[in-house]
Formats: sequence, C-alpha cells, structure tokens
Amino acid sequence: MIIDGKKIAEELRDKIKSDIKKLPDNNKPGLTVILIGEHPASQIYVRNKEKFANEVGIKSIVLRFDESISEENLKNEIKKLNNDSNVHGILVQLPLPKHINQKDIIQTIDPIKDVDGFHPINVGNLSSGNDAMVPCTPLGCYYLIKKVIPNLSGLNAVVIGRSNINGKPMTQLLLKENCTVTIVHSKTRNIEEICKNADLIIAAVGKAQMVKSNWVKSSAVIIDVGINRIEIDGKNKIVGDVDFDNIYGKVKSISPVPGGVGPMTIACLLENTLKAFNKISKKI
Ligand code: NAP
Repeated sequence: MIIDGKKIAEELRDKIKSDIKKLPDNNKPGLTVILIGEHPASQIYVRNKEKFANEVGIKSIVLRFDESISEENLKNEIKKLNNDSNVHGILVQLPLPKHINQKDIIQTIDPIKDVDGFHPINVGNLSSGNDAMVPCTPLGCYYLIKKVIPNLSGLNAVVIGRSNINGKPMTQLLLKENCTVTIVHSKTRNIEEICKNADLIIAAVGKAQMVKSNWVKSSAVIIDVGINRIEIDGKNKIVGDVDFDNIYGKVKSISPVPGGVGPMTIACLLENTLKAFNKISKKI
C-alpha cells in the first residue's frame, strides 16, 4: 500500500481550516516567515508555506532580508515579532548565511511561537514527554505512521539519520508510542542487518535510494523523508532515500517521494501555528 501523504495532508488542512473559520474575523492566527537571501529551494518552500497558510485562513507574512543582514539586526527583528500580538508563529527559514549563528537565532524565538519546534525548550519538553511544539517533518511522519498502524506499542522501529530536525525528534515520538527504537547514522555498522529486523523504518538521510529491497521485511512500514535530486536518462528527478520502485510491492506500506512526507510537513506547520495561537490565547 502506498501511503498517500497528499490526501492525508489535505484532510489535516481541512480540519485546521474549519477550526480557524470558527474564530472571529479580528482574531485569526498569524504566521511570520523570515527569509534571508536568495537560496532557490528556500524561496520555493517559503512560497508554498505562504500559499497553504493563506488557504486555511492563517494571516501569513514573509519578511525578506538581504543576505548581508547582521546577526544583531536579525535578532532585533525576531524580538519585535515575539512582542507582536498579531504574530503567533515565527519561522526562520534555514539555512542561514554563514556569518549568522543558527543556534543563537533559534534561541531568540519565543518558545511559544516556535512553530518549527527547534528551540531547546521545545526539544527538552518533547524528550521529557511534556507538551511541546514538535518539528513539522517528524510530526508529519508520525501522522502518516498512525494512519497505517494505530497501535505502535512494542514495534521495532529503525530511524536512519540523527539530525535535530528529523531523526532525533522522530525517535522521541516513537519512544512515546512505546516502540523499541534504534537510531542509526553514518558511523553505524551493519545498517542493512538492523533494518531487516524493523517493523517500521523512517529514512531521513539525504542519500538517494539508499534503502534497498533486501534490507526490509515484507511486513514493514516505510516512511521516506529524503528529498534527493538525481538525473535519470538526462532528466532531473526527485527521489527519496528509499529504492521505492524495487520495494513498494514487497512491503506492507510505504510513503512515496514526492507526495508522502513533503505535503505533511507544511500541513503540520499550519497545525503548529494554530496550536501556538490557542496557547497564546489561553494565556491572555
Ligand atoms: P542531515 O542533517 O544531513 O542528517 C542526515 C543524517 O543521515 C545524519 O545523521 C547522518 O549521519 C546520516 N547519514 C548520512 N549518511 C549516512 C549513511 N550512509 N548511512 C547512515 N546514515 C547516514 O539531513 P536532514 O536535514 O535530517 O535531512 C535528511 C533528508 O530529509 C534530506 O534528503 C532532506 O532534504 C530531507 N528533508 C525532507 C523534508 C520533508 O519535508 N520531506 C524536510 C526536511 C528534510 P551523521 O549524523 O553521522 O552525519
């Protein structure tokens, strides 16, 4: 079975839209995205975020700054947004120019408005099992997994990749669901053997078609986070970290690339913005 991320994301957006519709016109969630420089992929991501935010009724604003903005000026812009009652979600599109310290920028965002879930307070809350803003991509993976396997308790899950934005938060979400989680990375020996024992594989590596059909058992569910651009027969193609064509008939379920995790990431950003709005509204 192919897991239809597009459809599941649409259902989530519909739910968010209907919740926002019930709010008074003068009090809707607001999302501000900060975009620095001309990074081509970032331009596309930000355009999509803005489009889908507006579609569900979130007031979305993109603040664009030149590549040369100083770290101090960027921090001041974020502080203004922290204090702006019309802004409920703040997202700084990564990567940042080299002269800006990413960690310091993330820590400048008010954790309640941190819709990317990268602030150490949110990271700590997630790993302590407290309510947290969860990073959008692993949250999207989690929803896809829950559609296919509602009860994850006791399953062997293998997360490939240990990044702060994907692998680590994914691991926390699966632990909370009582999975036995193995996290593997570039220094792990025998990844193939570890994967063979997995009921669930989440691949977040950035290596085109790395997970092969002889790595997986037939009852496995596979979530492919990777976005890799490759050339096949002179044509550019986007593929995941999983060898989809040779695996999809062999396993229980698999998410495709594109059309799997990608649409869920944006839908979860919208959900996080609504969550931030609800939390802020309760505090006032
Ligand atoms: P990242 O920060 O580069 O992390 C990659 C991880 O993979 C690292 O932990 C690395 O290990 C591990 N790794 C690299 N080569 C490996 C190998 N041969 N075997 C096992 N592990 C290996 O990447 P990321 O930001 O998490 O992104 C991963 C992929 O997801 C990329 O393709 C990215 O484009 C995609 N992505 C998709 C979405 C979406 O919405 N669908 C969102 C974000 C990212 P070490 O820690 O040892 O270096």
